[in-house]
Amino acid sequence: VSLATARARDADDRLAQARDRFSVPDGLIYLDGNSLGAMPRGAPARIARTVEREWGDDLITSWNRHGWIDLPQRCAAKLGPIVDADPDDLLIGDSTSVNLFKLLVAALGLTGRRVILTEEGNFPTDLYVASGITRLFPDVELRRVPRDRIVESLGSDIAILMLTHVDYRSGWRHHMPALSSAAWDCGALSLWDVSHTAGAMSMSLSGSGADMAVGCGYKYLNGGPGAPSFCYIRREWQEKMRSPIEGWMGHANPFDFAPDYSPAAGMKRFLAGTPSILALAALEAGLDTFEGLNLDHLEDKADALGDFMIEAMAQLCPDLPLASPRRAVDRGSHLVFEHPDAYAIIQALIARGVIGDYREPGLMRFGLAPLTTRYQDVWNAASAIADVLASGEYTSSHFARRSAVT
Ligand SMILES: *Cc1c(COP(=O)(O)O)cnc(C)c1O
Repeated sequence: VSLATARARDADDRLAQARDRFSVPDGLIYLDGNSLGAMPRGAPARIARTVEREWGDDLITSWNRHGWIDLPQRCAAKLGPIVDADPDDLLIGDSTSVNLFKLLVAALGLTGRRVILTEEGNFPTDLYVASGITRLFPDVELRRVPRDRIVESLGSDIAILMLTHVDYRSGWRHHMPALSSAAWDCGALSLWDVSHTAGAMSMSLSGSGADMAVGCGYKYLNGGPGAPSFCYIRREWQEKMRSPIEGWMGHANPFDFAPDYSPAAGMKRFLAGTPSILALAALEAGLDTFEGLNLDHLEDKADALGDFMIEAMAQLCPDLPLASPRRAVDRGSHLVFEHPDAYAIIQALIARGVIGDYREPGLMRFGLAPLTTRYQDVWNAASAIADVLASGEYTSSHFARRSAVT
């Protein structure tokens, strides 16, 4: 492969026009849309309208006049096709961590069982939240097993199988329908974290057998820093589950100001407090970047970009081991490569305008967000990595200094 092949693939790319929906600074190669999606071109005007006209001029009347009260549902309607779920089975609001807490506790209340089964390499917040629940409810156990022991660990004591669909480190992608049905067969509920899936892969929450899911709004959904996350519950469980945070926005009639809580019907009961309207405005602009796209092309492009990067790296940096699955069906939309000086190499790349990120231990991670990444970006990034390695510029001491956020 070469820069010329990359350009030819860009010319054939069926999602190429989607990049125009974003503002990506000229000259920057942004391979971190898996951590923070690029800014949608429509976001500044959308946010400005909410701030200036709605908040500034119409003040509190905007809850009705501008439909602020329904904004979580409007966002859910736009998210529905992206994750293939009925918008009524989705709820937008709070962070992924908070939604995990709400769903785990509510789901434990559904079953007589007390074990949450997960993968030992799961994303830290998922492990922390579940482990915090075991402190709150001492009869609950969090059982962590290696990936290859998940299925054999599904026994009659498992209440919830909690997994992240695409691993934030290796990019490994679980087979969601097979594992959900294995959980189902042993009488356990499945809870999927699709933070690294939604907006990057073709997926179907309604068709995958998942009982519950949570996912992040600021990664491939392009909702802006700290965007609200989402949760999904299969219809038949919704009325049987109660949120552990019984806030007034999840009440059946919040404006009755009744002294006692009575849960709203459906997903709305999982709302806790007042949603952040400014954050939802930005998220809506992010979800609008998917409008009219053929979502089947998302995964095709993510797979093809990954294959292209693997080829380019094998050619330009043959000594750098790939630590992600080689087969596209086994991975999500990012790749990691191993190097003992991975942190410094990433800093040296950032100094050259190639943005990836570092993940412990010794992993360089490159996100290939299908809406914004071009094949030529991948080629140019691989060339820059080769240059940084060959020149040794990453050994300069200031590239070793750790910032608060890696
Ligand atoms: C990014 C990410 C999160 C984010 O959690 P927040 O509470 O929304 O910050 C959660 N889980 C996974 C797997 C992630 O990749």
